Amino acid sequence: MTQVFKTRAGTYVEIVNTGNFLLDGGSMFGRIPKVMWENWFPADEKNRIIMATNILKIQVREKTYQVDAGLGSFYDEKEKVVLGIEENVPFCGSTDYLILTHLHFDHCGGISDMDVREKVLVSKKEWADAINNNNPLTKGSYRKNDLDAIKPNLECIEPPYKIAPDIEILSTPGHTKGHVSVLIDREIFYAGDLIPTSSHVHLPCIMAYDLFPLEILEVKKRMLEMALEEDWIVIFEHDPYTPFARIDKVGDRFKARPAKADKN
Ligand SMILES: [Zn+2]
Repeated sequence: MTQVFKTRAGTYVEIVNTGNFLLDGGSMFGRIPKVMWENWFPADEKNRIIMATNILKIQVREKTYQVDAGLGSFYDEKEKVVLGIEENVPFCGSTDYLILTHLHFDHCGGISDMDVREKVLVSKKEWADAINNNNPLTKGSYRKNDLDAIKPNLECIEPPYKIAPDIEILSTPGHTKGHVSVLIDREIFYAGDLIPTSSHVHLPCIMAYDLFPLEILEVKKRMLEMALEEDWIVIFEHDPYTPFARIDKVGDRFKARPAKADKN
């Protein structure tokens, strides 16, 4: 499903789900008990929940930009079983610039199916951690073939970085040290794994995959305050049910308020 927005400044932004996969619900919600999270995300008999890979396509002044590349099709049979990937539907897009929030396979795996005409932008810290990949916690998430496919077009950046006047790449560490999010026209915020689903706007929802829980808590709170104040649309990369929303606050609890796209 594709949803389209046009910002007040005239930028076209499209959300595309490039494919679903399955992850352990407990790992996605960290310390939140299943009796609570199963009301938000139904689990299968193996405790797995459906995860989308919503990417963003942006068109402004004759150039195209894409944020994240989706899962892609480079998986062996065992990985397909573990991740619940039933059919290979590679997302063979093309773009001038590709911005990657970080280099875990579910965010950059699609690079092998894509044509990037200009640059692939990655934060310098993220690239260093992915290349040195000697942390047992992230070893399985960074894959050599993804990094090799990125290399020919790689541009390492130090956020905050403006790739266009309307597109800001912001440092949002916590999931990984070098994780970035993308803000378009100060109106549309692509959070990446900073806020993977609409349920994760609830501050204590911190994934077991987040390397620096206290840091992500702090960064998430700061970005949600800004989203609330400036009424941003927040995009949730892994949410198949609520891929985007605006933010409300009831007492000290943030909530996702369903929003409408300009075109479905
Ligand atoms: Zn992810």
